[in-house]
Amino acid sequence: MGRFRDPAPDRIVTSDTKLESRIHHKFLELYFEGKIIQLEERDKTPQEEMLISQVDFLVTTELEKMGVKTKLFSRDKIRFFTPSSRVRLEDWEVDTAGTASMLSQEIEIVAEKDDYFLIASVLVHELIHIHQFLSSIVATEPDQENVVTVKARRLGLEFINQSENDESLRSFRYLNEALTEILTMIMLKNNSTQIEILKDYSFDDHFFTSYVDEKILACSLITKLQNANPDIFPEFNEAANIFFRSMFTGQTLELARIIEKTFGKGSFREIGERFSKRPVVIDDILARADS
Ligand SMILES: [Zn+2]
Repeated sequence: MGRFRDPAPDRIVTSDTKLESRIHHKFLELYFEGKIIQLEERDKTPQEEMLISQVDFLVTTELEKMGVKTKLFSRDKIRFFTPSSRVRLEDWEVDTAGTASMLSQEIEIVAEKDDYFLIASVLVHELIHIHQFLSSIVATEPDQENVVTVKARRLGLEFINQSENDESLRSFRYLNEALTEILTMIMLKNNSTQIEILKDYSFDDHFFTSYVDEKILACSLITKLQNANPDIFPEFNEAANIFFRSMFTGQTLELARIIEKTFGKGSFREIGERFSKRPVVIDDILARADS
């Protein structure tokens, strides 16, 4: 039996309870205006419960090896929805199989019952997001003084410029996604036997169908950086790690420096902007490393 979720977030934490209720009401308002469509939640099967525990343990262990402080994720914060469901918030439609809200610390996965590979790969990806660097701001809407919202400013390597009036610029958005997905592939391929139900499954690259184009571009960027700085990065992995580290620590100074040294002044910002929209084009920037 499917359940219907509350249309407003159940966890809003600010220093002010009046503020919390205002945010809650704003969501309800959007809901009744038809701007948010409810999702049909479904129960997890016992096999899925087991899969969740093993994936959670795997991600936590792997991140700790990278020096990231983590803890196991609360299982009731992971919710499953039937694939026929779609969230629509204004004109934005979710076309991915999973979302993680770092602000409310919740993961939503859209998958058929017992589609184990999809669930495992989406869950690893979203758990990585949950553990990434997050900073947020509490802001008032310019035209509605009584409406206050909590907005993310940084999500991993992604910078969200909320000061733009129209559409917010989300620098590095698709680079952050590509890196998250590359890390997802590495974690699952290196530890496939830890997930019992998938232990005989072959984790071939082509089964990972998220952010394919962006993953190729991220790899080209890392390869260029490595080739141009072989003294600092003897291997691809060392160059990749500087990106991964920034995603979790939020510190980008070291990364920005090496990028500017390789691709020229202003290139860090430029790469961020190119990765804010699809399709991402960076060939001209990468070519600068050769000149
Ligand atoms: Zn993602």
